[in-house]
Amino acid sequence: MRIDALQGDCIRMVVFCRLLVLALCLAVGSRALAQRIELQHEGRTYVDLASAGGRLGMQAYWLKGYDTLRLRSQWTTIDVGKGERILYLNSLPIHLGFPTLESSGRLYLAQADYRQVLLSVLTPQSLSNRPKLRRVIIDAGHGGKDEGAKNEAYGLYEKKLNLDVARRLKVMLERSGLEVVMTRNSDAFIPLERRPQIANRENGDLFISIHFNAADSTTAEGFETFALTPQYQASSKYPKPGRGDNIRYEGNDQDPWNTLLGYHVQRALVQGAGGTDRGLKRARFLVLKHLNCPGVLVELGFVSNPATAQKLRTAVFRQTLAESLYDGITRYGKRLQRLP
Ligand SMILES: [Zn+2]
Repeated sequence: MRIDALQGDCIRMVVFCRLLVLALCLAVGSRALAQRIELQHEGRTYVDLASAGGRLGMQAYWLKGYDTLRLRSQWTTIDVGKGERILYLNSLPIHLGFPTLESSGRLYLAQADYRQVLLSVLTPQSLSNRPKLRRVIIDAGHGGKDEGAKNEAYGLYEKKLNLDVARRLKVMLERSGLEVVMTRNSDAFIPLERRPQIANRENGDLFISIHFNAADSTTAEGFETFALTPQYQASSKYPKPGRGDNIRYEGNDQDPWNTLLGYHVQRALVQGAGGTDRGLKRARFLVLKHLNCPGVLVELGFVSNPATAQKLRTAVFRQTLAESLYDGITRYGKRLQRLP
């Protein structure tokens, strides 16, 4: 009996010690994990992408060569390269505020980019200040004495193309039951600062500024969509933030919604009209800075590219561009409606 009792005590002691060791291991392990989840660099917080992806229900793994981390779920694939300032969300290039960082075999994304890009597009239900979608402000860029880009050999003037696509878009949006206000519906010169003023005065729920590009190189082509640069970040064409980037504009109140709108518009453009996907970029355009509603500026192709110019001469292609914009806006609208 005594020996049995002693054996029982010994077994209980061994079990207790093992549990103690396990608890200690777990405590040390979770502390180590917690240390790895965030990282500070140049005064900014970075989040571990694999852990962040895990919270969004995504699995993370390195692609061949260990240069690109992939996050994957049933519907979404995100590819992010080491030290890159572009993230590919379902293959759409989204220009980030800051390059990613690699440390001890893990990839880190600036917390600002995690919030303003990943959360905006993947979990808009987590965002506050939800917009509605009833009245769309269409801004046909340039006009009057301001002709914009041109390709005279093909008889293309940006101000005319912008207005043509804007009118086609207006017809489709109104047919779907949305209200539309145009910042111009004729060949009139409207100063840049007037355009967001019209959007705000008319209580617009969405602002879309329509433009076409031109470049010295005739091979440049494709679509790009711009959303307002968030505070403290450099616009996409600059490598690092400067002092002027610390200013916050009214348009920054809609940062996450600008991103969500830009993502859907750019995606619909590339899917609907084909061509090179130049991605969702950031710029502090005057027409976006002072908006009280979500807004984007789209560049619908290069008039300087002969193949694009040839297509732009056809009403069929201009209609396709307008339909793609319509698809992007309505997908964004449906995403808002689905929010709980
Ligand atoms: Zn323009």
